[in-house]
Amino acid sequence: MNKNYDIVPIDKNAGNPKVVLLTFDDGPKDEKTLKPILDILDKHHAKAIFFVNGYRVKAHPELLKEIDERGHAVGNHSYEHIQLGKEKADVIKEQIGKVQTIVEATIGKKPIFFRPPNASANDDVHKIAAEEGLMFMTWSNGSLDWTMSGTKIKDKTKAIIGNVTDQLHPGSNILMHELTWTGAALDELLKTLEGKGYGFVDPASIQTGA
Ligand SMILES: [Zn+2]
Repeated sequence: MNKNYDIVPIDKNAGNPKVVLLTFDDGPKDEKTLKPILDILDKHHAKAIFFVNGYRVKAHPELLKEIDERGHAVGNHSYEHIQLGKEKADVIKEQIGKVQTIVEATIGKKPIFFRPPNASANDDVHKIAAEEGLMFMTWSNGSLDWTMSGTKIKDKTKAIIGNVTDQLHPGSNILMHELTWTGAALDELLKTLEGKGYGFVDPASIQTGA
């Protein structure tokens, strides 16, 4: 991963540089939103990072287990989805640390990826994430799915695909959310990306340096 949070090949001569990283934030919310996303990822043999909030894991540990069992990576997105960049070290430590603890207690392993809510971070956020062995990232390609709650589902699919393809470049780190309309758009989005010659990075292949 480079400083723009793009995925770049470890060996420049190996593999296909036309890849994207798929990420889904703010879950696990509920089964009816999550399941279609997981099913479409399976259909395209794609693995993603699910950046989860601790309070949601507490409410739905079974959904976190399902994400893990289906081969996806679980990332840390803070316990309560607060703007960590505005907080002091003790709060940041608690927000990040409690997610490490509950995820490990639920699926037997700690997250290795971290994305702060709203990309809000200060020096303490960077430092504490590193101390927890987490790789910090925001994103390099925003689907803007989080801005679309008022529009029709058909228009949302079009808008999500348009937003992603407008910003598409090799290594795109694509930010999406666990939302019903993102699930509804996902099959067409992944088909579009495949049609442009893009593959999907398995998060397990990302060198974290941790
Ligand atoms: Zn978020």
